[in-house]
Amino acid sequence: MDVFTTKKDLIAHISNIKTNKKTIGFVPTMGALHQGHLTLVSASLQQTDYTVVSIFVNPTQFNNTIDLEKYPRNLIQDLDLLKTLSKEVIVFSPKASELYGDNLESTVYDFEGLEHQMEGKFRPGHFDGVGTVLKLFFNCINPTKAFFGEKDFQQLQIVKKLVELEQLEVEIVGCPIYREKNGLAYSSRNERLTDLQRKEAKVIFEVLQNAQQDFGIKSATIIKKEVVEVFKNHKLFDLEYFEIADTKTLKELTSFNPEIQYRAFIAVFADSVRLIDNIALN
Ligand code: AMP
Repeated sequence: MDVFTTKKDLIAHISNIKTNKKTIGFVPTMGALHQGHLTLVSASLQQTDYTVVSIFVNPTQFNNTIDLEKYPRNLIQDLDLLKTLSKEVIVFSPKASELYGDNLESTVYDFEGLEHQMEGKFRPGHFDGVGTVLKLFFNCINPTKAFFGEKDFQQLQIVKKLVELEQLEVEIVGCPIYREKNGLAYSSRNERLTDLQRKEAKVIFEVLQNAQQDFGIKSATIIKKEVVEVFKNHKLFDLEYFEIADTKTLKELTSFNPEIQYRAFIAVFADSVRLIDNIALN
């Protein structure tokens, strides 16, 4: 497995591959790899000839310094894991200064309002950081396809918008959420949960499943109220938001339209660990 830490070496390697008319898949990650990440890598390996996996904890997308400091980093383990998958995996793990140069700042993007909903409200500047780092990666890698998890559904929609706005020649592929046995969506941040929190975090998927069952029977307002109630006196988890929103505009449902696809979105804190999840409703 080839591992690169500099743009120059990665670009040279990729241009070599491309002279042989091979396709490149790209799976951006922040490392501390888990089964959810691996489903993206597998999809990419199936659909393209070579898969670049980036491992980079991107400082510009963190609005909370403690979250950035405490974000799990397991590069050696990540490389061992990726090595077992396929020789067609290429790892890019740059330092921030290598990727950004002297300018560790975000470009300010207008994602036509997608950036102001949900995660955007609670993590100001987050999607500018995501857009900025992806643009840097896309410039080096020039992938044929790039793979993103529906776990970060808002991010997936924003990446599609970025590609449209910047007229990039890459196909964005969304991959389903991969869950632990109890329903908790795999996340690098799960490592920071206590055993009890990790076990009880099944409540997040449970409320999403209940919302899915009740959708069309109860109003969105009632469903939301019931979710708020579940977390009101919860010993382990604090609800940050629960929203039922249009999957295209990400705007909160105000009056139901059967032509529109909706999803329920949730963000919850277990102490300082922030967990997000979502589910399709119709
Ligand atoms: P991260 O390392 O958290 O930035 O995630 C890298 C990519 O993996 C993103 O596209 C995520 O949406 C995706 N991902 C993270 N967790 C999961 C999961 N449980 N199922 C599917 N995709 C995931």
